[in-house]
Amino acid sequence: MGESPNESTALEALHRGAQDYLVKGCFNGTRLHRSIQYALERQQQLLELESKNRALEELSRQLEKANYELERLATMDELTQIGNRRHLDKTLELEWSRLLRAAEPLSLLMCDVDHFKAYNDTYGHQMGDRCLQQVARGISTALNRPADLVARYGGEEFTVLLPNTDLAGAIHVATQIHARLCELNIPHARSLVSSSVTLSIGLATEVPTMGSSSTVLIERADQLLYRAKQQGRNQVCYLEQADLLQVVCAR
Ligand code: GH3
Ligand code: MG
Ligand code: MG
Repeated sequence: MGESPNESTALEALHRGAQDYLVKGCFNGTRLHRSIQYALERQQQLLELESKNRALEELSRQLEKANYELERLATMDELTQIGNRRHLDKTLELEWSRLLRAAEPLSLLMCDVDHFKAYNDTYGHQMGDRCLQQVARGISTALNRPADLVARYGGEEFTVLLPNTDLAGAIHVATQIHARLCELNIPHARSLVSSSVTLSIGLATEVPTMGSSSTVLIERADQLLYRAKQQGRNQVCYLEQADLLQVVCAR
């Protein structure tokens, strides 16, 4: 049996999204009342759903923001607002394996504030904290490439990681860091090497090889920092040629 004109119009209307279809003359008050009530309930449900969706979107935005902040806090040193040791360790690992494949050099500077205990003793711990903040900013401004990283290694020690940078490039950066410290000119009356705050720097450069570990870079830079301290501080020490083990210390 075929559909009556009313039925086909009703089906078409419902197909297009109508909630109900009433045929003139074929409904009574109760039917109309229920139809309207049903439409209102549906409308209410839709509004509630929309409002829930909006709340869910807002929650998801807040969660994203909180995650970003958590990530930032987990990788940042609170006092100096630069990377922390954890961030350095992770980035060093990553860059080491990346540059192993690229067969490109990775340089690392280990910087230590000279006679910083005397600074704290003279100016107080709070001024000491401010000094560390200034030094961190000073080092940061000496870096140019987006991949360069400065991190607080601990206490008054800062590490600079320079991917795709050879010895000559790293010496240039170390010289820039010393220049920035000079410009900052933070008074240090009890330093035995200068009238202002200075840094000693150990510099190591390696092209990663299979079987070697990134810790070798830290160890070498640390040894060279020790040499810089021994030889009078306020200078940078590096190996001229790794094979010759010739140490160069320069101001
Ligand atoms: P050197 O030239 O041999 O490096 O001597 P130094 O006095 O800098 O080194 P030492 O290791 O004897 O002292 C480091 C000082 O750094 C001691 C500590 O009080 C200070 N220090 C470490 N962390 C902080 C910090 O977060 N804030 C402040 N104000 N001082 C710190
Ligand atoms: Mg130290
Ligand atoms: Mg020190």
